[in-house]
Amino acid sequence: MATVSRRKGAAIERLEQLCRKHSLPLTAQRRAVLEALQARLDHPTVDELWEDVRVLIPEVSRTTVYRILETFAQLRIIRKVCHPGAVARYESLTTRHHHLLCIRCGAMTDLQNAVYDKLTLPGADTGFEIEDYSIQFSGLCAECVASEGHSRK
Ligand SMILES: [Zn+2]
Ligand SMILES: [Zn+2]
Repeated sequence: MATVSRRKGAAIERLEQLCRKHSLPLTAQRRAVLEALQARLDHPTVDELWEDVRVLIPEVSRTTVYRILETFAQLRIIRKVCHPGAVARYESLTTRHHHLLCIRCGAMTDLQNAVYDKLTLPGADTGFEIEDYSIQFSGLCAECVASEGHSRK
């Protein structure tokens, strides 16, 4: 499992470049949302990020935070992580990686593994053009396994 490097300065620079490319003004609110997301590794939800952003900008609305996240996700500045039946979560890591999802506490951890990056993808016969993929392993995180072992005693 490789370590994931997240240089804050580099991410902000990349955002500035992308915003310029899309003629999107980098407002204080957009910057605050990106910085809040960048600071977390746990794939936060809109509500969790709204809480973080309100520390910096108390008057910001949830709708504003949501719209900013959606705009960034559409422009692929950040990534939206969705799985059926669960609330959407966001992350600033947009390079290919995979996830470990705990079905008990909902913890989502990044996983990098070159083997999973080199899967044989469905071919042209499907008529489907694959843009990207991410593997999600679901199960119990180490903490939940530990507490389960505890409760069984
Ligand atoms: Zn768990
Ligand atoms: Zn991730």
